[in-house]
Amino acid sequence: MDGSLRSGRELHDFVAALFPFPRSLTGDGVRRTLDAVASRVPLVQHEVPSGTEVLDWVVPPEWVVREAWIAGPDGRRVVDVADSPLHLLGYSVPTRQTLSREDLLPHLHSLPDRPDWTPFRTSYYTPQWGFCLPHRLLASLPPGGYEVCVDSELRPGSLTYGELVLPGREPGEVLVSTHVCHPEQANDNLSGIAVATALAEHLQSLASRRWTYRFLFVPGTLGSLAWLASRRDDLPPVRAGLVLTGLGDPAPITWKRSRRGGTWADRVVEHVLARRGEHRVLDFSPYGYDERQYCSPGFDLPVGRLGRGVHGEYPEYHTSADDLALVGEERLEEALLALVEVTGVLERDRTYRNLSPYGEPQLGRRGLYRSIGASLDSKAAELALLWVLSGSDGRTSLLDVAGRSGLAVSTLADAAEQLVAAGLLEEVLVPPA
Ligand code: ZN
Repeated sequence: MDGSLRSGRELHDFVAALFPFPRSLTGDGVRRTLDAVASRVPLVQHEVPSGTEVLDWVVPPEWVVREAWIAGPDGRRVVDVADSPLHLLGYSVPTRQTLSREDLLPHLHSLPDRPDWTPFRTSYYTPQWGFCLPHRLLASLPPGGYEVCVDSELRPGSLTYGELVLPGREPGEVLVSTHVCHPEQANDNLSGIAVATALAEHLQSLASRRWTYRFLFVPGTLGSLAWLASRRDDLPPVRAGLVLTGLGDPAPITWKRSRRGGTWADRVVEHVLARRGEHRVLDFSPYGYDERQYCSPGFDLPVGRLGRGVHGEYPEYHTSADDLALVGEERLEEALLALVEVTGVLERDRTYRNLSPYGEPQLGRRGLYRSIGASLDSKAAELALLWVLSGSDGRTSLLDVAGRSGLAVSTLADAAEQLVAAGLLEEVLVPPA
């Protein structure tokens, strides 16, 4: 049974529903986002208190914003966080003062080459306040006195992250991680959340799973560090891991390899993407999203990243133009379908030993060869039988056979099941590596 796949329209609707929540590194925007995910899958929310040491970092205070605005010399609001959470520099400290335009300008952030867009900026570790606004608006500000109100608080609270565990039959886990800390960023953040949630729904609907699937919905960097810190001495056996983000923009599907490269995760994803068509594969770099943490040498997990446009490479990145229009329904759906295939291969890639390895066993006698007038499908099925028998030396997995034969892992796995039933094949239990 593998029903319940969300359509592109449904994925986009979920992105749109979560778009307005005022997410940040901490706070209720993250909690509301996780609540929405938890309404679809049994997500557990963890609260890590401010001040907790997580590896080399410390969980910061929780940021609460009641109101934040600037009023111009005529008393009218120039910008107001009530209109968009992007207008306030993330983690702005409180202030209430009136100052001249010249003294205000160093606190304003804009994009002169994209004068109609508002940048998304944060200052998690340097205490300051600031506002982000379209450059066209900034350039039009007249001289005079500006009243600034940032009614915010940095108080002891917690950092919130979500964890979902779908247990499997065999010892081994697949890790799927996505970040949940960006306000009003549809592609960089919400596309990953929507697709990860839909993938979890799909895996949950399966009658049985080979692997345990662990989904993490974490504030970027600190969230993954907090999870890793909690499991430092008790790290689950992660066989493969994927960081998901940026799955809705127009760039082709892109796999960023794990730090080690060539891991089972890398080979499975690259196999699936190559069969699906246009895609890109990038080597690892220690820049990007939470793959940096999972792949750090102390943990060294086989985790790569599936996305499309690379952060910083597309102009809408970290601006108000990363909006609902940037994210295409069909692109979200394509990403989900690719991930369903990836997990399908993770579930079915096994290594076998041919129990009749001296010469070709006679398949017809065992009812494995259809006789005359075979259709194209049965031709492919026969070819798969021969490839599996030929490849099954006890060391070569179906994925390797797929690479050599050009056949899909699912076709080879069907053949392997027939051969096991006919007594010609046995599984060799070697952990995928
Ligand atoms: Zn980002």
